[in-house]
Amino acid sequence: MLIILSHLGCLILVFTGLGLGAALWALGLYAIRMLATTAIYHRLITHGSYKAPKPVAWVGSLVAASAGQMGPSWWKAHHLQHHRHVDTDADPHTPLAPTGGLRGFWRSQAGWLLSSSFFPESLPADVEADPVLRAIDRLHFVPMVALAALSWQIGGWPWLGAFCLSTTLLYHGVASVNSVAHLAGSQPFATGDASRNNGWVALITLGEGWHNLHHAFQGSVRQGFTLRQGDVQLLPDPTYRFIRLLQWWGWASDLRIPSRRALLARAAS
Ligand SMILES: [Zn+2]
Ligand SMILES: [Zn+2]
Repeated sequence: MLIILSHLGCLILVFTGLGLGAALWALGLYAIRMLATTAIYHRLITHGSYKAPKPVAWVGSLVAASAGQMGPSWWKAHHLQHHRHVDTDADPHTPLAPTGGLRGFWRSQAGWLLSSSFFPESLPADVEADPVLRAIDRLHFVPMVALAALSWQIGGWPWLGAFCLSTTLLYHGVASVNSVAHLAGSQPFATGDASRNNGWVALITLGEGWHNLHHAFQGSVRQGFTLRQGDVQLLPDPTYRFIRLLQWWGWASDLRIPSRRALLARAAS
C-alpha cells in the first residue's frame, strides 16, 4: 500500500535533511491536498453540501487521490457507511466498537485499512455514473505516483522525502477526524453518537474537526458552528472559506447552511 510506503519514505529525510524549499513544498502540498479532501471528497461529492461544475469535482478528485486518499467512490462509500452505522460494529472506523481503548484507537487511526473493512459495502451510484470520477476511482494510485515522481524531478531525494512527509501527516490528519473527533472535545449538539467538536483536529484538517456539528448537520457546507450561552457562535473553518472563494469565482453555488433556529433546536440538553 502506498500509504505504508509514504511512512517509510519519511526516513529519506533522516539522511537528506529538510531544507526550506522542500519544507515549503511539503506544507503547500499538505494544504492543497487537505482542501481537496475536505471541500471536494467530503463536502461536495459525499454530502452535496453545495453544487459545483463537474470539472471542479474532477480536478479536486485528482488532487485528493494524489494524497493517497483513494478514489471518490471508495471514499464516499466508506464515509456514508460511517454516518449510517456511526459508532457501532458496522462503522468501518469508529474508535469505540467492537473495542474501545488503545486497540479501538489503533483500529480507527489505521488498522481498519488492513482489515476486511477496507472493502466498502457498496459503491455510490451517482459517482459511478460519472465516467471521469469512475476512472479516477479505479486509477486512484496514478496521481499519487505522478506527484511523487514530480517531487523527485524538481528537487531529488529531499523533495521526495518532503512529499512522503506531507502525505503521511495528511493521512493522520484526516484519520484523526475518525479517531480523536469521536473521543475528545465538546458536544454542543444532540447527535446520539460520540462525535465531538475538537479545535486541534479542526486546525490540522482545515475545519473538519467541528465534527459534532457535522454529525448533527451532515449537509451543512459550513462546519464551524457551536452553541454558547444559548446562542450560535461561528468557529474558524478554512474549508468553508475556500468554498466561498470557489463561489466567488463562479465554481460553487447553492451552499447549504442550517438556519439559526435549526442550530438552536439541536442543542444538547
Ligand atoms: Zn464521524
Ligand atoms: Zn461526513
